Amino acid sequence: MSEAADRLGRASLPSVSVVLDQAAAAPIHQYGKRVIAEAIRAELSRLRNEIADDAVAPEPSAVLAAAVVRLEQLRGRGVQRVINATGVVIHTNLGRAPLSDAAREAVVAASGYATVEYDLVTGARGSRTAHVGSLAAELCGADAGTAVNNGAAALLLAVAGLARGREVIVSRGELVEIGGSFRLPDIIAAGGARLVEVGTTNRTRAADYRSAIGPDTGLILKVHPSNFRLIGFTEHADLAELVALGREHDVPVVFDAGSGLIDDQAAGLLDDPVVREAVGSGADLVLFSGDKLLGGPQAGLLVGSREAVARCRTEPLARALRIDKLQVAALEATLLAHLRSPVPHDIPVIRMLHEEADTLRARATSLADTVARIAPSADVSMVELGGVVGGGAAPGLPVTSFGVRVQGPDASRFAGDLRQQDPPVIVRVEDGAVLLDVRTILDEEVQVVADAVRRCLPSDDT
Ligand SMILES: *Cc1c(COP(=O)(O)O)cnc(C)c1O
Repeated sequence: MSEAADRLGRASLPSVSVVLDQAAAAPIHQYGKRVIAEAIRAELSRLRNEIADDAVAPEPSAVLAAAVVRLEQLRGRGVQRVINATGVVIHTNLGRAPLSDAAREAVVAASGYATVEYDLVTGARGSRTAHVGSLAAELCGADAGTAVNNGAAALLLAVAGLARGREVIVSRGELVEIGGSFRLPDIIAAGGARLVEVGTTNRTRAADYRSAIGPDTGLILKVHPSNFRLIGFTEHADLAELVALGREHDVPVVFDAGSGLIDDQAAGLLDDPVVREAVGSGADLVLFSGDKLLGGPQAGLLVGSREAVARCRTEPLARALRIDKLQVAALEATLLAHLRSPVPHDIPVIRMLHEEADTLRARATSLADTVARIAPSADVSMVELGGVVGGGAAPGLPVTSFGVRVQGPDASRFAGDLRQQDPPVIVRVEDGAVLLDVRTILDEEVQVVADAVRRCLPSDDT
């Protein structure tokens, strides 16, 4: 091989250590030497496969730059703050409920050493969930309560705690899949119980449950269908009827409310089950999520009778499903806010759902005006929008909102560019336009969103 040929193609690619020398202090300090070296190795291997035999090999500095880009892309996949301009209040992919200021402060306070399982009065071991459980019970008008990692865990624990090795009776109209891999029959099997289906998809009566009760019945389970609605020729048994049936046969009754409104504070706005009513009807346990309509951290709450809660708390699975200290802290702060006020506006989910049309219209107008001022060439208008609550709450329930429509030549590319901003702005694309729904945008984010829009406008080179 001649000397000239030697400088061409893969043979002349720099070594890892030569490129690493280029990394000097900055990237090595930022990522660590091992991580940078790995990225350089990956980049060199890509070049080795792709570089043409007669191409000039890139300089070590170019290899390093490409390796850093590769790392940035990888790092970008971590959890980062975004601006939710979709209008979907409980957005599962964006972390469901944004925490209140009090809940955020509680998380920070609990992130060091904290009284997670420590009683300051006696200096002895305390219970992780006793306090949060009694707050939940008080809020819902129940005798007892506890909390686990999420709603699915609450259901699993209720099934295992009350009906392991026995039968669980469920209506065929409620054998739901909530999302991802959360399917009711699988949860019941995982809890060590056997599913007994009753009724039909559209109609199930109390008599159907009654005829399924036998010596092996461990539990009657009612599940809120959450993310879908049965309409038309339908019938279902009321929780109160099932409770009466359960009492008659000494079988516990559990209601999985899913989102669960605490009180009827949002009556007329949402038609989700009201936890206080369900507890009042005498169900042994009512289950609901911490990060749906409650507006707190990911958690599953169980409230009901002392006996049922005790059986769940002592079930061996409870340890595996337990809630983490940061969740406990945020949940306490969230429950306290609900105890202080029936409509706690300091909880973002509650505030956003109750936002007045005038407030939304004013915020949308302000955003449209700001964008129009800083990007005069943009095709922007303030519009009325239909939205959804999200998170499986109130499906099919249209929520009127307001926002800004930005028309451009390529809306999905525009939306993609908005996702690359810092912080990323997540929007809806409809009918070839980008829609920014202000229900989920905070007042202090309006300027940030407007600036991001200006930077991403296809017609603006600034
Ligand atoms: C959302 C939901 C669950 C699951 O709750 P996660 O907190 O998401 O685990 C269970 N049951 C019902 C009825 C739900 O709506």
